[in-house]
Amino acid sequence: MYHAANISKVLKGELLQDRGFPGIAHILLDSRKLIFPETSLFIPLVSARRNAHQYIPVLYEKGVRNFLVSEHLPLDQYPDANIILVKDTLQALHQLVAWHRQQFHIPVIGITGSNGKTIVKEWLFQLLEKDYNIIRSPKSYNSQIGVPLSVWQLQPEHQLAIFEAGISQPGEMEHLEKIIRPGIGIFTNIGEAHNEGFLTQRQKINEKLVLFAKSEILIYCKDYLELNECVLNFHTQIGKRDNQQGLQLLAWSRKTDADLRIISVDKDQTHTRIDALYQNAPLHIRIPFVDEGSVENAIHCWALMLYLGIAPAVIQQRMDLLGNIAMRLELKQGINNCSVINDSYNSDLGSLTIALDFLQQQQQHPTRTVILSDILQSGKSDASLYEEVAGLLQQKGIHKFIGIGKNINREKKRFQDVEGLKSLFFPTTEAFIQQFNQQDFQHETILLKGARIYEFERIGKLLEHKVHQTILEINLSAMAHNVRQYQSLLKPGIKLMAMVKAFSYGSGSFEIANLLQFHGVDYLAVAYADEGVELRRAGITMPIMVMNPEPGSFDAILQWNLEPEIYSLHLLQQFEEEVRSSGKTDFPIHIKLDTGMHRLGFEKKDIPALALLLTENGQLKVRSIFSHLAASEDPGKDAFTQQQGRLFFDMSHELQKALGYTGIRHIANSAAIHRHPELQLDMVRLGIGMYGIDNGDMREKLRNVSTLKTTVAQVKRLQPGETVGYGAQWAAPGPATIATVRIGYADGYPRCLSNGVGKMLIHGKLAPVAGIVAMDMLMLDVTHIPEVAEGDEVIVFGKDLPVQQLAQWAGTIPYEILTGISQRVKRIYFEE
Ligand SMILES: *Cc1c(COP(=O)(O)O)cnc(C)c1O
Repeated sequence: MYHAANISKVLKGELLQDRGFPGIAHILLDSRKLIFPETSLFIPLVSARRNAHQYIPVLYEKGVRNFLVSEHLPLDQYPDANIILVKDTLQALHQLVAWHRQQFHIPVIGITGSNGKTIVKEWLFQLLEKDYNIIRSPKSYNSQIGVPLSVWQLQPEHQLAIFEAGISQPGEMEHLEKIIRPGIGIFTNIGEAHNEGFLTQRQKINEKLVLFAKSEILIYCKDYLELNECVLNFHTQIGKRDNQQGLQLLAWSRKTDADLRIISVDKDQTHTRIDALYQNAPLHIRIPFVDEGSVENAIHCWALMLYLGIAPAVIQQRMDLLGNIAMRLELKQGINNCSVINDSYNSDLGSLTIALDFLQQQQQHPTRTVILSDILQSGKSDASLYEEVAGLLQQKGIHKFIGIGKNINREKKRFQDVEGLKSLFFPTTEAFIQQFNQQDFQHETILLKGARIYEFERIGKLLEHKVHQTILEINLSAMAHNVRQYQSLLKPGIKLMAMVKAFSYGSGSFEIANLLQFHGVDYLAVAYADEGVELRRAGITMPIMVMNPEPGSFDAILQWNLEPEIYSLHLLQQFEEEVRSSGKTDFPIHIKLDTGMHRLGFEKKDIPALALLLTENGQLKVRSIFSHLAASEDPGKDAFTQQQGRLFFDMSHELQKALGYTGIRHIANSAAIHRHPELQLDMVRLGIGMYGIDNGDMREKLRNVSTLKTTVAQVKRLQPGETVGYGAQWAAPGPATIATVRIGYADGYPRCLSNGVGKMLIHGKLAPVAGIVAMDMLMLDVTHIPEVAEGDEVIVFGKDLPVQQLAQWAGTIPYEILTGISQRVKRIYFEE
């Protein structure tokens, strides 16, 4: 355990206050993720938009006693704290963890590259866990913040470390190199992804190679020609710079001579056999995967195991058992109104903590339940391990705990001692399944977390609703990313209202609102009161504006503390009466001004009467004044937008003056946030951009959120001239292959996409709609994709086939496609 005094010395910081105890075991960066107050060191990071120093008082209140800060604090308010002052907290974090890393002399593997980092890391763990006690980055923790948090987990009992590193701009890898300091390097591959931030591909490769500046060996595939050239250059440069033993290269290739020369790759339905020559000896492995990405990832792992001197026969045996990696945390609908988070492929403390954070965000059910297997290979004694797990459950407010496995059973007392935690234990998964009773699970959010050998997917089957073959997947991490992109465009202090009307543009209700609440969004807006009620019922506590408050819903608005948009004098009078009879005062409302859309809202001439009504009584309080832009995305209409802005300034000013108080002013929607930053005012309203859609400058910065998928129900071979579908409108021009897929206009697939206007992706290739779209099904012409088989996945839209494209084919806008996806299409939410 470290102490503030030695940390301060390491960082050459100024020890403003030293109380000696308590010592430091954990680093805390996100105040919401506090688990161990006594032994955490809080390091407040500072960005253009957010200064985490503001959370220090709250954290002190909660018992945190160690702070590493870059601003002076009023010491008298923190009499018991140890406080270290440095210039830059992010830099200090990096320095601190780099120093921590130096305390260990074990093999460390560093992985970088465009794709496959996490899979290679997780597979290496699966392949080597019998030989070493391994520490690895949780999930894809590979950023300027994720890497230090990962490496900080290094403890004396570990025998091998595997960390991944990812960068988004030049200069970053140098920091990560010092923190990871890998002796063994793997460069997985180089792709086009994330090119933003780099001028050229070469620049990106060279920057990534910095990770291996002090490594002994680098494993890579020389078939990436540019990568190969850069590696060879890097290799000579390093040789010149250091006189120490230079960097050794272990290259593999499917095409030319290499240290590990791949001779053949043969696939059957389920497995791939790879034959190679290594040091002139023939070798082979077999893996239970057939896709190209898996082949590449497996060869990297193979090369590394050969380098470590593991016997070929042992490698072969373990490769055959490689398993799927859960790259994401999925939230699915379960039995008896439960939600299920299935993370049943691994269990370690790092990923358990992440999964518990996700569980804690879920407000929709009164009970939070964790089903956990023994945690294997933690390197800790069971006593201290399960003590820590029990502490985690308590901190995260878990109500019900089910422990499965021998070790956890032995330590059950630690869980039984947690106040308010109901706990149950089973020796094996089988025993749990034997005694499973559906009725024991009601209105709960259930996290399933088990090591692979416990086969928790069997429990998943009991708890989850069967998922239909057509699903809409919502990537919550991508949505959080998009929100952050827009947040970073806002000037300090500007609030953010998230538009979650129409079932969050088709993507969900409380699932999205939970995320937005967690990410510090200030306001939500819905179209109708019942949408707001649904959010309140699911535990959403943030303010909610209702844009169409019908008189019939006034009582719901009052009862559930929703805030109506008021757009006419008549509506104002009606609502005011309702509030008056309820006896409430100062009830928040939002005044909508019409500045050119001519849809809803007060006009300039109405303002004196409006102000009079509002000031005459104390029933209502204007929380905000707003208007809506008609064409903020269109450069050709910028003069019109500016005119709307001027009119809004003018009208809102007049109203504020008459009211005698200000209220929040807002007019900017997604497009205006970046196209018309002068209109950000006091708050902005983010809609479509949050869902990953923009046709302007933001396009490159946003990530795809929704993927609509379906499956092939049947494949048919047709003779020339045979027809397909209603009306027999499509005839095979030659011998043709047709795939029937499980989606139709009742699911929201526009019928106007019939007869080749619309296309879908199968096996990465576009297949046009053949004939007429039917209610529940349609047919695709897959003549040019011979590998199509029953059950294959079909992408209707997603990352590689943007919803914008679909909208364009249908002659409409993405908004209509997204909100038109029928409710019978099941939504699946996940975090990466
Ligand atoms: C839907 C809506 C928005 C969001 O618009 P986007 O173009 O999706 O960002 C903003 N304000 C109002 C009043 C809306 O109805």
